[in-house]
Amino acid sequence: MGNHNRTRPEYENVPQPIRKDGAGFVDLGPRDIMRDMQNPDMLVPPPTDTGGIPNLKFSFSDTPMTLKHGGWSRQVTTRELPISTTLAGVNMALTPGGVRELHWHKESEWAYMIWGSARITAVDQDGRNFIADVGPGDLWFFPPGLLHSIQGLDEGCEFLLVFDNGSFSDLDTFSISDYFAHTPKDVLSANFGVPKSTFSHIPKNQVYIFQGKIPGPLASQQVPDPYGTVPKSYTHRLHAQEPSVYPGGTVRVVDSTNFPISTTTAAALVEVKPGAMREIHWHPTDEWQYYLTGTARMTVFAANSQARTFDYRAGDVGYVPHPYGHYIQNTGDTSLWFLAVFKSSRYADVSLNQSLALTPHELVQENLNVDSEFIAALRKEKVQVVKYPGFSYYPKTSKSDS
Ligand code: MN
Ligand code: MN
Repeated sequence: MGNHNRTRPEYENVPQPIRKDGAGFVDLGPRDIMRDMQNPDMLVPPPTDTGGIPNLKFSFSDTPMTLKHGGWSRQVTTRELPISTTLAGVNMALTPGGVRELHWHKESEWAYMIWGSARITAVDQDGRNFIADVGPGDLWFFPPGLLHSIQGLDEGCEFLLVFDNGSFSDLDTFSISDYFAHTPKDVLSANFGVPKSTFSHIPKNQVYIFQGKIPGPLASQQVPDPYGTVPKSYTHRLHAQEPSVYPGGTVRVVDSTNFPISTTTAAALVEVKPGAMREIHWHPTDEWQYYLTGTARMTVFAANSQARTFDYRAGDVGYVPHPYGHYIQNTGDTSLWFLAVFKSSRYADVSLNQSLALTPHELVQENLNVDSEFIAALRKEKVQVVKYPGFSYYPKTSKSDS
């Protein structure tokens, strides 16, 4: 079996849709070999994959880029990844001084600074303001409906925004320039108590992102604050937070318990070391993932014999409907870092290992037809990120898989 697959040595270093047992056949094209190399589990799914689970992956590299003087943005929403109904993500960069203009939206905004720094501003419904500078690994959270802005500082910046509605579009928010452009000038004049001529040169369309001047230090931008500042901080230093350390990596959980304003969004910043894996688990709410560094493999189990395996890399969005079981393996030789974001006030997960450990062991043994060695290995505590020394299942090329 499978000899017909070995007759073309010139294709030996090219991944082929051929399983170890010989199932499949060479793909002589047309094909995108680079993409096939990035998605070995799509090209050669594990034999345990069956059923019709829809797509759970979308790369920001496959989204339309909006380029402006002052920065850029791109987004992954239900338009790109139809299953991602609970959350939408925007990847944005701002130049030094570049401004995401004053705007608001009905969704809450949860954000993670990837690199660089920015100044953020917001004012709540009671006139209490919030102005702060954020750097790498910092979060911010804006409750729905509040006027806010983001401006790049010295080096510029890049960040991830997550909104608690999958069909959100950052291009369709309530922008201050758009609002002024579509309000009669006599109304603007009456509202602000200034002559109509004040508004002769306002932008005719939504500005979205513009190039501004790099602002001075925070102290130089003080505004009158008769109502004080917001009672709960809109920022949180996630990367500076002490992580939970496990044999195979680290986890930093952030939700309304340690970032009280973030009542609609919970998240985990997860590091999985080479040869390690985020243990098998599931959640009570959908998981929206953003891969920061490295490469990963995830199989999602959706009941009724449905399972599908995906490969992820930096810049990908992943999605896991609840309560689908999943694990995440680091498939590379550098640390894998990803964000798991949930539309929830509290982070929660169910560990398969822990759940079995705390179920009568005879029942588990009979149910799964496993020996006492399996029972002895079960852990009562969640380990979250587990290490498998010598982990080498994952093939680098199809050669080792054919
Ligand atoms: Mn916003
Ligand atoms: Mn998860």
